[in-house]
Amino acid sequence: MRNLTTIHRPTTVEEAVNLLRNGASGTAILAGGTGLVGEASPAVEAVVDLAGLDLAYVRAEADGLRLGAMTTLHDLTRNSALQGWAGGQLARAAHAATSSSLLRRQATICGSLISASAPELAALLIALGTQVTIYRPGASQAPLEALYQDGLTETPFLLTEVYVPRHKGLGVASQAVRRTPGDAPIVAVTAALALEDGRVRYIGLGAGGAVIAAPDAPKARTSGWPTRLAQTEHGLLGQRLTNQLVAAAVAQAPGEMPAITDYLASAEYRTAMVGTLLRRALGEAWRAALDTRS
Ligand SMILES: Cc1cc2nc3c(=O)[nH]c(=O)nc-3n(C[C@H](O)[C@H](O)[C@H](O)COP(=O)(O)OP(=O)(O)OC[C@H]3O[C@@H](n4cnc5c(N)ncnc54)[C@H](O)[C@@H]3O)c2cc1C
Repeated sequence: MRNLTTIHRPTTVEEAVNLLRNGASGTAILAGGTGLVGEASPAVEAVVDLAGLDLAYVRAEADGLRLGAMTTLHDLTRNSALQGWAGGQLARAAHAATSSSLLRRQATICGSLISASAPELAALLIALGTQVTIYRPGASQAPLEALYQDGLTETPFLLTEVYVPRHKGLGVASQAVRRTPGDAPIVAVTAALALEDGRVRYIGLGAGGAVIAAPDAPKARTSGWPTRLAQTEHGLLGQRLTNQLVAAAVAQAPGEMPAITDYLASAEYRTAMVGTLLRRALGEAWRAALDTRS
């Protein structure tokens, strides 16, 4: 941010949204700052610092979990209310976002989701049916995956809250493949499912990975962008699960996620791993969902 001249410190969400809306095109939101400062974009001339908005909170309610936009990854790993959430997967995915505890203490949940730098966390939250509160400038709720479909950069917007609904009897499992334990996953998937009378009552399948874009590619050709595997879910919702049914549904999953070749992996490898990891995750989630009933 070598051309930064102004730091705004709003104290209300409305003030922050107005600053964004009325600011010049070089006005950016500052959350933990670990991405923004590191990027050092010369285009950023002013920042709207969210620190004064009281958006760092974890609220476990009867129906779900409310996470303020400024909640850090460290808070997600340590907050006692989250330890048992989704079988402990939320705390684990926040921890997996980076091996640096310094970064986890600084980076926020929404900064990480916007920059798609925590693929396991994004895949998990998508699978759990997470909604986000967006101001642009009026407030609205949207599924987390819609953020990525709509494009993140068109109009300035502010995320204020992440809402994770609670599903009864949920089995959750995540799988990822990475070059070394410290690397970002090449592919990460999460399966979440709940059964009723032997049939699938809820299913959420989230996927993501190291985000790479073909040169000059539109967002649709960006590989690894967090995605909900909605068509694959559709093949399983309301069904009695069998190994054959799972295999048939999983076979179409790779088509729902664009894959590009880069130094980390070939497009063919990425595509194959979406199917392999999803089959494993679905098997584990299925067993976990059965266990919740015993
Ligand atoms: C040493 C180091 C290593 C890193 N490694 C990686 C890496 O491997 N992969 C990677 O992708 N990133 C990496 N990062 C970048 C960064 O750590 C992550 O992207 C981080 O999760 C961003 O979170 P933050 O809260 O610091 O966001 P910020 O840096 O404050 O913001 C990130 C982006 O999100 C926007 N934003 C933040 N909060 C909101 C909100 N509530 N509403 C709307 N927009 C918002 C900001 O305007 C900005 O565009 C690294 C950074 C460092 C310093």
